[in-house]
Amino acid sequence: MQTTTITPNITRLNRFRFVNAYLVREDDGFTLVDTTLPRSADKLIAAAASADGAIRRIALTHGHGDHVGSLDALRARLGAAVEVLMPELDARIHAGETVVDGKLPGSWPKLETKPDTLLHAGDRVGSLEVVATPGHSPGHVSFLDTRDRALIAGDVFTTYGTAAVTNHFYWRFPFAAMATWDKAKDLESARALRALDPAVLLVGHGPAVSDPASAMDAAIDRAAAG
Ligand SMILES: [Zn+2]
Repeated sequence: MQTTTITPNITRLNRFRFVNAYLVREDDGFTLVDTTLPRSADKLIAAAASADGAIRRIALTHGHGDHVGSLDALRARLGAAVEVLMPELDARIHAGETVVDGKLPGSWPKLETKPDTLLHAGDRVGSLEVVATPGHSPGHVSFLDTRDRALIAGDVFTTYGTAAVTNHFYWRFPFAAMATWDKAKDLESARALRALDPAVLLVGHGPAVSDPASAMDAAIDRAAAG
């Protein structure tokens, strides 16, 4: 697990140069945003310990397998006292409900863990504000750190080489577009995130982008052009 300090409150945890999770510092310890792939639980717990805190809650941007992959193992090791928060629609998909018409792309592995809390737009998770960003998945959410406007945007954007919206094929990371459910909604969500004027853009796949306004504008322009 490669760890990178992004802001005084956020540490990026990268697994296999492929997928990120984030430790977000709060007064009582950490919120872990996403869990990366299976078999990462011990490494995530160790990363929190070496950053001098404990994981108090696990907040998920969406239900895809490379983000919820270690959720069950974390719950098994950390116990029920650690709150699990998941966007409502993605939680209902994991519960077996049909919430959208047609095929749902991306991987939706079977989860034992039922979320304690369903996330909706405007909710607060410690210092993070929940922003509804549907499109990549039906319930996808992003998290804005209200202390400094760092934005954890999940899979609305990728940032390999440059920022790209996941509504269209991008050769540096084609998996994200292949897993995207509704391309038009995804682009709308990208615009909504840009309008938040984030100080730094953090994503599921790729490095952090500081002062990301122009990179997000360019990504949205390319995405809108198809
Ligand atoms: Zn995804």
